[in-house]
Amino acid sequence: MDCIFCKIAAGEIPCKKLYEDEQVLAFYDIEPKAPVHFLVIPKAHFASASEITAENSAVVARVFEVIAKLTAQLELKNGYRVVTNCGPDAGQTVHHLHFHVLAGRPLYPDMA
Ligand code: IMP
Repeated sequence: MDCIFCKIAAGEIPCKKLYEDEQVLAFYDIEPKAPVHFLVIPKAHFASASEITAENSAVVARVFEVIAKLTAQLELKNGYRVVTNCGPDAGQTVHHLHFHVLAGRPLYPDMA
């Protein structure tokens, strides 16, 4: 499958890695929209949040555990935003489920 995040998860394309386990990978976004901007992805391929079901949703809980761990390690005491874009109106460009974590500046009122 020609999916850039599958290739990053497989180690075929380099990334600036923050965290990895069997299920999940976290790495810095290549075009940061905030002073801190990283992505957390399930290694398994889901095109978007629309593919989450009762059978496969455990990985989403794992993603949020990793987000809690990393944001604590990075000492993002002023808070952070977690975003997943789903489909064209949301501006999704990479069709492998990923959660943006943005921090380091006030993120309101924009929804970026
Ligand atoms: P989306 O628009 O929500 O699909 O977000 C895709 C994100 O992936 C964008 O913020 C891109 O900058 C980021 N991105 C695309 N390719 C790479 C890469 O090779 N490494 C890290 N981030 C990437």
